Amino acid sequence: MKLYTQILTKNDCYKCGRTITPSGVMVHSTGANNPKLSRYVPGNAEIGYNTGGNHWDMPSTGACVHAFIGKLADGSVGAVQTLPWNRRGWHCGKGSRGSANDTHIAFEICEDGLEDRSYFQAVYQAAVELAADLCKQYSLDPKADGVVICHSEGHARGIASNHGDVMHWFPIHGKTMDMFRNDVARAMEGEDEMTQEQFDAMLENYLARKAQEKADQPWEQMAIDKVQAAGISDGQRPRAIPTRVEVMAMVAAAMEQ
Ligand SMILES: [Zn+2]
Repeated sequence: MKLYTQILTKNDCYKCGRTITPSGVMVHSTGANNPKLSRYVPGNAEIGYNTGGNHWDMPSTGACVHAFIGKLADGSVGAVQTLPWNRRGWHCGKGSRGSANDTHIAFEICEDGLEDRSYFQAVYQAAVELAADLCKQYSLDPKADGVVICHSEGHARGIASNHGDVMHWFPIHGKTMDMFRNDVARAMEGEDEMTQEQFDAMLENYLARKAQEKADQPWEQMAIDKVQAAGISDGQRPRAIPTRVEVMAMVAAAMEQ
């Protein structure tokens, strides 16, 4: 997950300087159709720039989460940290039994129209990874009671205002908060950290980069010149990894000399 940092130092939550000892992570979604991170932060070239003059890095903006997940300038999904993790945010109001603002690190997932499956899968995965990172950092058990919760669960527990997020969205795409907690736990264990497809893609990328490298050492150029002159190899892609059959072809060509 691409994680950027843009601390909202003009926001009241930052300025008042109150801190918490994080004992949980609360998941929110914004409740407005605007998946761009630049809606909420001033932005930069990679995040995209806020052009509406309505980001949250402003005095007398009383609400703030610790991070947002949404679309970067290039349309891919990333996250931006907006408060130090142990700064007290203001994201869930309070309930009959207190406020998770005093205990939970919180992030907002930027909503789109809620129907786009590929956007949901990307932000869900980013949310899993961010929650896993935070649980690791603060030694939290994501499956323990009340640790990783969404806003609506916080309300049910009496520690948050009456909002429906994220349960008005996750179930549309077949996800529950129990599934989310399990996915966070799995991510922490390192299982499913990389799929075979991801590994193959990375290996392919590595091989392609090696194939584009130029041979810049004198001994390399000498070897290339020799085999080229002898017709043993075309001398191309000098730092690529050869297959067995490519080696066989070169040996065969040398044997014919
Ligand atoms: Zn919320």
